Amino acid sequence: MALDIQTIRQDFPILGKTVYNKPLIYLDNGATTQKPRCVVEKMVFNYYNENANIHRGVHFLSQAATEAHEEARQAVQHFLNARSSNEIIFTRGTTESINLIASSFTDECMSAGDEVIVSVMEHHSNIVPWQIQAARRGISLRVIPMNERGELDMEAYEKLFNEKTRLVSVAHVSNVLGTVNPVKEIVRIAHEHDIPVLIDGAQSVPHIPVDVQDIDAEFYVFSGHKIYGPTGIGVLYGKEEWLDRLPPYQGGGEMIASVSFEKTTFNELPFKFEAGTPDYIGSTALAEALRYVTTLGMDNIAAYEHDLLRYAEEQLERIPGMRIFGRAKEKSGVLSFLVGDIHHYDMGMLLDHLGIAVRTGHHCAQPLMQALGIEGTVRASFSFYNTREEVDALAAGIERVRKMF
Ligand code: PLP
Repeated sequence: MALDIQTIRQDFPILGKTVYNKPLIYLDNGATTQKPRCVVEKMVFNYYNENANIHRGVHFLSQAATEAHEEARQAVQHFLNARSSNEIIFTRGTTESINLIASSFTDECMSAGDEVIVSVMEHHSNIVPWQIQAARRGISLRVIPMNERGELDMEAYEKLFNEKTRLVSVAHVSNVLGTVNPVKEIVRIAHEHDIPVLIDGAQSVPHIPVDVQDIDAEFYVFSGHKIYGPTGIGVLYGKEEWLDRLPPYQGGGEMIASVSFEKTTFNELPFKFEAGTPDYIGSTALAEALRYVTTLGMDNIAAYEHDLLRYAEEQLERIPGMRIFGRAKEKSGVLSFLVGDIHHYDMGMLLDHLGIAVRTGHHCAQPLMQALGIEGTVRASFSFYNTREEVDALAAGIERVRKMF
């Protein structure tokens, strides 16, 4: 089904804004996406009509809010095709989900000298939590390299396994290169060595269909705000037997079964990992966002954004001095580039004055920048609400900046 982009754009009031008297062209969707009206209205509705702390209340509002929060969990379960809603833990986002696993998995399954395999294209949030555990526990990181197109070197990956390997933790889609990593193959190889896998889905869940049973990773994480939901809510999916096995991450209300000063017993899944008052407004708004993209169809979204990326690559390649980073065969809608020796920051600032929002810098992937031998890039990242006309404006804007230098 072809998406009706002009109608879709009406759902996103912010896209009608002007900045510096220019129509806003928002190409920073990798950092966060804009929110459709239904998501914002859901939050307003909940605060006005169903706001009460959940789970322990006997009163009407508390029960309504509890029901909405648990329905949201089921919505996430169905969206990811998880087996059970017990496998869905609400967190603050990808970063917190990875920190949770880094902490609980290391506590339960790792000791000094053990190794986690990551890749050279990880976001800092899939590097630093492991480094914190490295400092505390003496574990270490092994890194999958990539080829010049920005694809993971799968032969090198296989060679990283040894008797010290305990976990593989890699991104599904690179936030800088757009590479869609072969996660099924990554998981298959890890499982041949009896090693569990965590997949960082921050840049995949909003853009391509994801089926956690098909991928078969033990853990899969993503952020609500990158898939048209609110900030401050995210998801950790984990296979039930693994989540059962791991100790809690934080202590507090909600995650306990009983507490005395002598002994505390922990609640069952999923509550064991949700200490304190959860973001029940955020969870229901996230469920609304998932309903929104499901109605558009994740296959349609992926096809449209892929087409837009190819069009953008064609337009940008015509610009003299253009260097595009990330030439993987499987790519999602992320386009990182530099032009001649124009600093990425200058390019970003000047595009901004034309109304074009792109991101510049290292994109929280400094080790990847080191591997590429650069300090940073300019990154345009696309959504289904972006158009070819906006890509044309981007190309014209870059050309204008280039001529100024
Ligand atoms: N992982 C990847 C691949 C990302 O692109 C991002 C954010 O840009 C994150 C993790 C961190 O996401 P958040 O800041 O929502 O926790």
